[in-house]
Amino acid sequence: MSDNDHIYNCYSPPPVEFVKGEGAYLYTENGDKYLDFITGIAVNGLGHSHPALVGALTEQAGKLWHLSNMFRVPGQYELADKYCAHTFADKVFFTNSGAEAVECAIKTARRAQFVEGHENRYEILTTKGAFHGRTIATVNAGGNPKYMEGFGPVMPGFTNLPFGDFDAIKDAISENTAAILIEPVQGEGGVRALSTAFLKSLRALCDEHGLFLVYDEVQSGAGRTGKLFAHQWADGQADPDIMAVAKGMGGGFPVGACLATERAAKGMVVGTHGSTYGGGPLAMAVANAAFDLLNDPKLLANVNKMSNYLLQQFEALKDAHPDVVEDVRGKGLLTGMKLKKKALDVRNLARAQNLLIGTAGDNVLRLLPPLIITEEHVREAVAVLDTVFTQAKDMDDFEA
Ligand SMILES: *Cc1c(COP(=O)(O)O)cnc(C)c1O
Repeated sequence: MSDNDHIYNCYSPPPVEFVKGEGAYLYTENGDKYLDFITGIAVNGLGHSHPALVGALTEQAGKLWHLSNMFRVPGQYELADKYCAHTFADKVFFTNSGAEAVECAIKTARRAQFVEGHENRYEILTTKGAFHGRTIATVNAGGNPKYMEGFGPVMPGFTNLPFGDFDAIKDAISENTAAILIEPVQGEGGVRALSTAFLKSLRALCDEHGLFLVYDEVQSGAGRTGKLFAHQWADGQADPDIMAVAKGMGGGFPVGACLATERAAKGMVVGTHGSTYGGGPLAMAVANAAFDLLNDPKLLANVNKMSNYLLQQFEALKDAHPDVVEDVRGKGLLTGMKLKKKALDVRNLARAQNLLIGTAGDNVLRLLPPLIITEEHVREAVAVLDTVFTQAKDMDDFEA
């Protein structure tokens, strides 16, 4: 760890060092090969070193790196057109990260209430177990006390309500409420999907009370669930007014976006918001190429096929290892298994056998394979998990 001494101690990476990636695999300097079923947390959805992304980045790198938004940035208009053509949105603001996209979504919702004459409507209703990022506002939106402790007073304007409890949300609406901010599928919070029926009820509730429906699809978007965005499983009946996206949309290049309807974006005029790097030429070149690949029906069909296969295999693992696996969850290739043994220890056992996976809240093993996987990759991962769960049988039961 000594070569890590000058890095903030916010992370605790294992000693293994990866120097190259290709498709679903990562490689160390001496050529050790690992199957990547976490993809930088749902980022490298198209696998590592995708030739079309490498091509887009290197071509742009030879032309122009940065302009700032004081000029028209190549690629922004084209990419915004694509997102608006394939979603509910009319307007797009580009960011560098998920947290910034959520920040923009929060500002957009409040500002829209403001310009519609509802200056008192600033409160955002959020959900327990939510994760919206690590900025001061987004940790307050997420409401996880562990992420807020020691960072000053709790920020007013966010009310954190029980997960999946429609009545709690309904009862919390007051004359100060501006919006509901929610992940259609919680990633960090334990891979918990909301039903399309629930999302439709939220849409109706927002319409009834003049609230903006804001989705955080930073993790569940970019094709991860088998539709471009998870809420699109509701076939247009649970569209948001505002949505934050990031992670997979750049295939590994940092980029995010806040999408909004014309009405919701109305208040976001010159001087209200900005970003030096957001929507820069390099990000736009890669994100344009990534969009075309992610929006390909063949890729989305592969996600649906592979996720069915994967979930079926996970159910079989659960049946074979009832002492280890409590339940199987997820949507598309945003998958998880709640364990009876400590998920972090099980994750480490898998890494020792060259399978990279993650964890999430609620003692869940989180698996986010690239969207380009084949059945062979699934079989390889399942074989390792089978061995690992056998090893885990003798571990102490997990206690929250
Ligand atoms: C990762 C994540 C974020 C934060 O994104 P960053 O790029 O790390 O700022 C926000 N919301 C959700 C749902 C996420 O999964």
